[in-house]
Formats: sequence, C-alpha cells, structure tokens
Amino acid sequence: MKRKVKIIKIDLDKCMGCRACEVACAAFHSNPKYASVNPARSRIQVFRNELKNVFVPVKGSFYTAAECAGRPLYMIGEKMQSGYEYGESVCSFCGAACPSRDLFKEPDSGLPIKCDMCETEPPLDEPMCVKWCLVDALTYEEREEEVEEEVKLEELDIGIQAMVDKYGLEKVLDTVARMTQKEE
Ligand code: SF4
Ligand code: SF4
Repeated sequence: MKRKVKIIKIDLDKCMGCRACEVACAAFHSNPKYASVNPARSRIQVFRNELKNVFVPVKGSFYTAAECAGRPLYMIGEKMQSGYEYGESVCSFCGAACPSRDLFKEPDSGLPIKCDMCETEPPLDEPMCVKWCLVDALTYEEREEEVEEEVKLEELDIGIQAMVDKYGLEKVLDTVARMTQKEE
C-alpha cells in the first residue's frame, strides 16, 4: 500500500531570518483566516542570531507533558550544532511544546500548537510558509512511501492464528475435523 508523505525541507544556508514564514503561518491559522497576524501563533518559529548570521526555522512538532533530556542538533556549515553554540538554550532548535518554554503554545489558551502542513479544503498547492519564503529556504515535497497494509483481524481470527502458530495448520485442521465428526 502506498501512502503520501509531505515534507518541508529547510536550507539553512538560504534562510535570512526575515520571518515571512511566521507571518504567513500565523495569518493562515488565525480565526477567521487572515484576520490577525500574531507570530506567537505561528507553527514555525525562526531562531535568529544576527551577530553570527545564523537563522534556523523550526517547525512545531509535538506536545510533551515533561521536559525531555534530548537535544536537537542541526548541521550548520560543516558542524553539527545546538542553540547553545549561539548563546541560547541547548534546546532552542526543538519543535516541541514542552513545560519549560512558551514556544509552540497558543498565546491566549496556552494550548500546544504544531505544524499541520496547512491541511485545508480545498488543499493548497504548497504550505503557506513555503509559498512566502521568497528565497527558497523552505521547499515542499510530496513523496509516496510503501507501507505495509494494515490487516485488521477479528478476535476469532487472532485466536485461530495463534493456535496455527503453536500447533501447525495440519494439526488444527485435524482437530477441527475430529470435533465435527463427534458432533455428527
Ligand atoms: S521566510 Fe524563509 S528566509 Fe524568511 S525566515 Fe522564513 S525560512 Fe527564513
Ligand atoms: S506548513 Fe503550514 S502549519 Fe506548518 S509551519 Fe508551514 S505554514 Fe505553518
């Protein structure tokens, strides 16, 4: 079975920190659409360090109830780096809505927000942040991936399958044949 996967690629060498992606995302996700522009509502946040000429767009990814011990690293130039190298927290480049930061939370309610790839009806040709990134630091790709077909078995099927696995198909069939003979 094939599944469509949507990907936004980020090219750090091209990002100039203009934050147009934040504005486009916030406007698209305001209610009603385009009624307000509050970058705190954006599902993409651009980490910016002008002095070092480093700009890192980070998409909101998931909600976690507890602070984690992981540290996201990015390839910047030739080196793998975290926000720490730029005088920020080690988890600056993380997309999680977690208890230790205000990022990726709806400013009024505090509820977590994450990138939804601008899913809407009718669908967009490409997500808003990609459309408004005029230097192509963000590019959109759709890919088909092969995934195993999910076979939903009934409880009875699962039970029979377990018996076949344990005793072999022949023995199970023999036993069923003997049982039906007894009943006749
Ligand atoms: S719109 Fe593009 S160049 Fe501007 S901050 Fe976002 S990713 Fe970077
Ligand atoms: S894909 Fe859409 S929801 Fe996700 S960061 Fe870009 S503009 Fe925001």
